[in-house]
Amino acid sequence: MPGVFAAGDVRLGSVKRVASAVGEGGISIRSVHQYLAHLRESKSEA
Ligand SMILES: Cc1cc2nc3c(=O)[nH]c(=O)nc-3n(C[C@H](O)[C@H](O)[C@H](O)COP(=O)(O)OP(=O)(O)OC[C@H]3O[C@@H](n4cnc5c(N)ncnc54)[C@H](O)[C@@H]3O)c2cc1C
Repeated sequence: MPGVFAAGDVRLGSVKRVASAVGEGGISIRSVHQYLAHLRESKSEA
């Protein structure tokens, strides 16, 4: 679902480890920023 980001145990294929959950949380913020930038670009083109 666009705009919904998951990290840790709830993620599909999660390995159920604390270190993975923390790392995925850190990485997911990058995806959030990319998504928001994409939304801003789409709005400015409209
Ligand atoms: C018994 C046991 C032993 C484990 N031992 C290890 C180990 O030795 N080493 C290891 O690396 N991993 C271990 N794990 C796995 C590790 O605990 C998890 O992979 C890790 O905690 C996942 O983190 P998370 O943030 O994704 O989820 P969680 O730590 O489960 O955090 C999810 C949070 O969301 C909250 N929440 C749920 N629903 C809602 C809601 N509707 N609204 C608001 N908040 C909500 C919960 O209360 C919880 O605080 C173990 C797990 C268990 C159960």
